Amino acid sequence: MCDHSQMSTRIVVIGGGIAGVSAAYHLLEVHPGADVVLLEMEATLAQHTTGRSAALLLENLGTPSARALCSASVPFLREPPDDLVDAPLLAHRPVLHVATLEQSDQVDRMLEEGTSATTPTLEVDLDEAMRLFPPLRRERLHRAIVEPDSADIDVGALHQAFVRGFRRAGGRIATSTRVDAARPSGDGWCLDTTDGEVGADLVVNAAGAWGDVVAFGAGVEPVGLQPRRRTAFMVNGPGLDTTGWAFTEGVDEGWYIKDDGPQMFCSLAEENPSEPCDARPEELDVAMAIERLNEATTLGIRSVNSAWTGLRTFAPDESMVIGPEPDHPTFVWCVGQGGSGIQTSPGAGRLLADLAFGGGPSDAFDGFDLDGVRPGRFRGQR
Ligand SMILES: Cc1cc2nc3c(=O)[nH]c(=O)nc-3n(C[C@H](O)[C@H](O)[C@H](O)COP(=O)(O)OP(=O)(O)OC[C@H]3O[C@@H](n4cnc5c(N)ncnc54)[C@H](O)[C@@H]3O)c2cc1C
Repeated sequence: MCDHSQMSTRIVVIGGGIAGVSAAYHLLEVHPGADVVLLEMEATLAQHTTGRSAALLLENLGTPSARALCSASVPFLREPPDDLVDAPLLAHRPVLHVATLEQSDQVDRMLEEGTSATTPTLEVDLDEAMRLFPPLRRERLHRAIVEPDSADIDVGALHQAFVRGFRRAGGRIATSTRVDAARPSGDGWCLDTTDGEVGADLVVNAAGAWGDVVAFGAGVEPVGLQPRRRTAFMVNGPGLDTTGWAFTEGVDEGWYIKDDGPQMFCSLAEENPSEPCDARPEELDVAMAIERLNEATTLGIRSVNSAWTGLRTFAPDESMVIGPEPDHPTFVWCVGQGGSGIQTSPGAGRLLADLAFGGGPSDAFDGFDLDGVRPGRFRGQR
C-alpha cells in the first residue's frame, strides 16, 4: 500500500538541479503547510547540468518566454532574501559579441532583438571591443556589440539559497533516490523509487534531460524533449590582470570565453543531440574549440586543464514547459530549461508554484504569455 500523507498535502519534486530546488522552495512559499519532498537520484544535488554551466546572466537570450522568465527572475538574483545568502549572487560582467566581415548581418539581427534587458544591446567601436577583451585579434574584427547589464551568477550560492529556504520552511530532501515509475493512486500518485514506494498528491517533474523518461514512467505522454551536448573546459590564463574583461563570444555562437580566476573558461558552444546521460567531453569538440579560439584571439591555447560536458535540454519549440499536464493535472512539468535554466530559475520556480493546483500566475507575471510555456501547447490546446 502506497504511503500517502494523512496530515497535509504531499508534493514530490523529482530532480535536485536548479529547476527542482527553485520549484521546491517556491512551492513552500506559495503553499505553506504542504509536505514537500524533493527526490534526487544522485548522491549529491546539482551534479548534472546545473553544476556544468557558464554561470551567466544574459537577459537577451532565448525565446520570448525565456526572456520574460529571466526578467521575472532578476529581482531575486539582484536582491535575494538576506537570510538565504552570505554574499551577492551577481558580479557585473559585460558580454561582448564579435563579428567578422561575413557575420555583419548577424550583428544587425542581434541589435534588433536585443531589447529584453534594462539597457538594450549596444554597438561599440573596435577600440572599446579591444578594451573589453584585449586578446582579440583586431585584424579579424569587423563589428562588436555589448550587453552591458550582464553578470556572472554564483550558481552554487543560488542553488544553496533555494535549498536553505526550502529546508527552513520544513521541506525534506532525499538523495540517492531515483523515481522509476509512477501510477495514479486516488487523486494523486504512487511513485516507485529505489527507496520504496512514496505517495504524492502532486508530482513535479524537474528531471532535466530525463524529463520525458519520468513522464513515460508515469504513463504521461512525453513532450519531445531533446538534450543537447555542450562542452566547456579550462585553460591557463594569460597571466595578466583580467579585471573588467568581458565574457566574449563569436556572433555565430561558434565559441565563447571568459576569465575565471587565473584560468580561462572556454566552450565550443556546440548543440549536438544526445540521449539523457552523464555526458562526457569528446576530444574532437575540445580541439575544434581551441582552433576557433586561437583564430579569434592571441591566447595561443595549447593544453587543457579540465573539461566537462552538460546537457542543455529543449522542448520542440525551445520554450520551457511549466504547468500541469492537461489530462493529469496532478502531474506538473518544469522542464526544457535549455541554455537559460540558471538565470530563469527564480521566475520558473515561482510560476510553477503559482500554477500547481490549478492556480493562476501572480502579479510578477503580468502580461506573460502563459500559453507559450504550458504543456497543453503540445496537446493541441492553446
Ligand atoms: C556548458 C553549459 C553552459 C550553460 N550556461 C548557462 C548560463 O550561462 N546561464 C544559464 O542560465 N544557463 C546555462 N546553462 C543551462 C543550465 O545549466 C540549465 O538550463 C539548467 O542547469 C537545467 O537545470 P535542471 O534542474 O533542469 O537540470 P539538472 O541540473 O540536470 O537537474 C535535473 C536533476 O534531475 C535528476 N533526476 C533525473 N531523473 C531523475 C529520477 N528519475 N529520479 C530522481 N532524480 C532524477 C538528475 O539527477 C538531476 O540532478 C548552461 C548549460 C551548459 C551545459
